[in-house]
Amino acid sequence: KMYDVLVVGSANADLTVRVERRPGAGETVLGTDLVESAGGKGANQAAAAARLGARTALLAKVGDDAFGELLLAGQREAGTELRHVLVEAGARTGTAMIVVGPDGDNSIVVSPGANARLLPEDVEAARDVIAASAVVSLQLEVPPATVRAAAETARDAGARVVVNPSPAPDRLDTEVLTAADPLVVNEHEARHLTQLVDGTPEAWARALRDQGARSVVVTLGAEGALALEAGAGEAVAVPGVKAEAVDTTGAGDAFTGALAARLAAGASLAEAARFAVRVGAASVTRPGAQPSYPTLAELPPEPGQFT
Ligand code: ATP
Repeated sequence: KMYDVLVVGSANADLTVRVERRPGAGETVLGTDLVESAGGKGANQAAAAARLGARTALLAKVGDDAFGELLLAGQREAGTELRHVLVEAGARTGTAMIVVGPDGDNSIVVSPGANARLLPEDVEAARDVIAASAVVSLQLEVPPATVRAAAETARDAGARVVVNPSPAPDRLDTEVLTAADPLVVNEHEARHLTQLVDGTPEAWARALRDQGARSVVVTLGAEGALALEAGAGEAVAVPGVKAEAVDTTGAGDAFTGALAARLAAGASLAEAARFAVRVGAASVTRPGAQPSYPTLAELPPEPGQFT
C-alpha cells in the first residue's frame, strides 16, 4: 500500500481564546489574545498519524487564503502527503472558533467554508488513492454525501474504515455505520447515537455494534477508552494515562489518528486503543490541536513501564 492512513475530512483554522468564565447568552467576557492554529478533525487526525511516523495523506479542501496556507504548513510540518489537499480559488478556508474555559474544556463553533465544497466527485477522483491506503479515516465535518462516497469506495477497495461520527448526527448513514471498523465515539456521541443517556460505556459499545458498526471504540477522557472488537463477547477497558490537562482541544482527533496508524500497522483494536490513549494523554498537556501532537519519542511510557 502507498499510504498507511488516508484521512478524508475537514481542515479548519482554529481561532482560540481562553476565558476565566464562559459567557452566557447575550453576555460579553474578555479573553486572552487570539491564537491561530491548524485544526479541523480531518487535518488533525492526519497530523496525528503523520507525526507518529505513519505514511499519511489528507484528502481535504481549503481556500486560497491565509488560513489555507496555515493548514498546509501544519500538514507539511507533521509530514503528511499534501498532494491530495485541494485548494479552491475564491473559497474561504473553514474556521473553528474555540473558547477554552479555566478547566481546560472547550466550546466550539465551526464555519465550514471550503469543507462544504469537498464533494463526492472529489472522492471519485481519488479512488486510486483510497485503494492504495490501508486505513481510511472519516469524520462528519464534510458533506454527508462525501462521507458516504468515501466509506463505500474504501469498503469496495478493501481498505479498513475508521469512522468518528463527529459532530454527532441524529442518525448516522447506514452505509457509513456498517463500514465502520471501528466506530470511534466519545461519551457525548455515544449517548446521542444510542439514546442510552444513563448507559455504561460497554452498553453504548454493544448498542452501536448492534446498530451495525463492525467494531466500536468509546473514548472516556481521562478515564481512557473501551474497545469492542467485531464478534468479541466482551469489551476491553483501556485505563487512562495520567496527564496534566492544559487544553483538551483535538484530544479525540489525536486518539483517532493514532488508532488509525496502529491499525494500519496490524495491531488489534485493543492494542491500537492502548497506544492511542497514550497519544491522547500527551496531546492534552500542550495547547492547541495539531501543535500539541506528540512524536513517538514524546509519548508517555506505557502504564506499568518504568523509565
Ligand atoms: P476533544 O473533543 O477534547 O477532542 P473528545 O471528547 O473527543 O475530545 P475524549 O474522550 O475527551 O475525546 O479524549 C480522547 C482521549 O484523549 C482519551 O481517550 C484520552 O486518551 C485522552 N485524554 C483526554 N482528556 C484527558 C485527560 N484529562 N487526561 C489524560 N488523557 C486524556
